[in-house]
Amino acid sequence: MIRFVQWATWPLLLTTSCLILSVGFTTPGDIDVFGLAVKPELIYFNLSYAWIVLWLLLLERLLPYRAAWQRKDGQTGADLAHTLLNKGLVQFTIVQLMGMSFFQHREATMLSTQPLLVQASVGLLAAEFGLYWAHRWSHEWPLLWRFHAVHHSVKRLWLINTGRFHFVDSNLSVLASVPFLLLTGISMNAIILVSAITAYIGVLTHCNVATRCGFLSYVFNTPNLHRWHHSLVPTEGNANYGQNLMLWDQLFGTFFIRPEAELGEIGIAERMPARFIGQLYVPFIWKRYQRAP
Ligand SMILES: [Zn+2]
Ligand SMILES: [Zn+2]
Repeated sequence: MIRFVQWATWPLLLTTSCLILSVGFTTPGDIDVFGLAVKPELIYFNLSYAWIVLWLLLLERLLPYRAAWQRKDGQTGADLAHTLLNKGLVQFTIVQLMGMSFFQHREATMLSTQPLLVQASVGLLAAEFGLYWAHRWSHEWPLLWRFHAVHHSVKRLWLINTGRFHFVDSNLSVLASVPFLLLTGISMNAIILVSAITAYIGVLTHCNVATRCGFLSYVFNTPNLHRWHHSLVPTEGNANYGQNLMLWDQLFGTFFIRPEAELGEIGIAERMPARFIGQLYVPFIWKRYQRAP
């Protein structure tokens, strides 16, 4: 039974969430929520996200990957604060995009009339290209690493620190990927599906659940693969930059996997303030902060 849960967790949570979201695509009209007319896609996306989160909270207790990662690290408040700030900014960016005239009156393109899964696959590949390079530069360019280090500074991986990104870091990812997504000319529903899949795969990557993913880790960014990305060892951590897919890593030679090896310590070699506010401004005083006694 345990083996089944280990193997089924990742693919089953991903596919069932997509199915829940698909109900939103086929529900006609808006849904009345306390007198507010809300798009069904938004409601079903939130339901599907809650579905994954609740399962992961349960599985992190019952079937942890590392028992030591269940212990408090004093970072939960900071993790949640980064997540909320990022969520607000991403919503803001989406509202700005919706306000653009070309986005409101988009005409049918060659792709936008194709089946939703075909459109979403193309959209995912295009968005991933931007995400891959934004992430890779964040590791290879010291100026960007100062911001990305906030994400890597955690000493344990669990559901709650999935969204722990410096807001400059998360905005760069959005700016690097959204133009590629829009250039494909896919429909609005396909854009929603790509964004939802990114959210699902994202929340799964940090879960402290003893998942087994096998060959899926060669194609997708699974928790088993992403843990290596957080390794303190540079050759292990400076790899696997894809946020959803590993295709660009495979093509550009940055794919790294060691299915049988035991992951060592995770984190960063540099110092990081313990508090949220300090983490927000430390990239701007990085060298001074690292030199300080
Ligand atoms: Zn990284
Ligand atoms: Zn991570």
